[in-house]
Amino acid sequence: MARETCSNPKRIPDELLNCLSEASKVVVLTGAGVSAESGIPTFREAHTGLWARYDPMELASPEAFERDPSTVWAWYQWRRELIARTQPNPGHHALAELQHLVTELVTITQNVDGFHALAGSDDVLELHGNIHRNICSRTARQIEADWLERHDGHQPPPSPHHRQGLARPDVVWFGEALDAATIEKAFSAAESCDVVITAGTSGAVQPAASIPVAAVRAGAVMIDINPEPNELSRFARWHLAGPSATWLPALVEALDRRPA
Ligand code: NAD
Repeated sequence: MARETCSNPKRIPDELLNCLSEASKVVVLTGAGVSAESGIPTFREAHTGLWARYDPMELASPEAFERDPSTVWAWYQWRRELIARTQPNPGHHALAELQHLVTELVTITQNVDGFHALAGSDDVLELHGNIHRNICSRTARQIEADWLERHDGHQPPPSPHHRQGLARPDVVWFGEALDAATIEKAFSAAESCDVVITAGTSGAVQPAASIPVAAVRAGAVMIDINPEPNELSRFARWHLAGPSATWLPALVEALDRRPA
């Protein structure tokens, strides 16, 4: 368990605010919970629609795509449409603002929805890729959007790069390696930060979950924002118990109100 649980966003401990304002580098790691209030279900809590009929773990793998590319493609098209109908929430916007209130902020996300960049966060490290992009299933080369527009959206279009290849979303599936440069930047930021904020993540997916742990082991203090205690809570100095779309704006407001 965290050393201190806070449940009132209007009463943020001074010590926590001091840590943030004095930090030379702050790292934030976000997960699906940060987009939950935009209307995008998390993986482990969804009980409706396609999420109930299909197990994401069964669909988000190279084996599933090999076995049944049309079903996997349809599931991603459905998720893309869902994301297109929704938008970043106050939690995403608060993180974009936080960049201007701390000395340096490195935003790392496990989400593939692109909402941090859309809300204005710069240079986001997207550990698991981005659902809006596509790559060739054989060569992993990027496929331009206009190539896809020329094909029926219900089937995975053929790849322009390989005769046996198909277009697939540019996301990291179970069993696949993360982009080496991205993960290296994430760990290097974690190991050199003073404060690490985890928001909306269960801490169940590796290697992402090891990033805040590496930060804490290197001496950073951790703030965990989540309605529920989770796998990372025991590393946290503070657990801010509640939704990130409430706590992140509250943190930003409290920091902004402080005398310079
Ligand atoms: P997860 O589904 O394992 O856990 C979600 C966490 O968010 C839980 O701990 C839950 O208590 C918390 N949560 C729920 N509502 C919240 C809220 N309003 N505010 C703050 N926290 C809230 O998510 P994960 O840890 O990110 O791991 C799942 C994997 O699934 C990731 O790798 C991610 O790539 C992928 N995913 C991405 C999206 C997206 O891009 N929006 C959506 C679903 C899953």
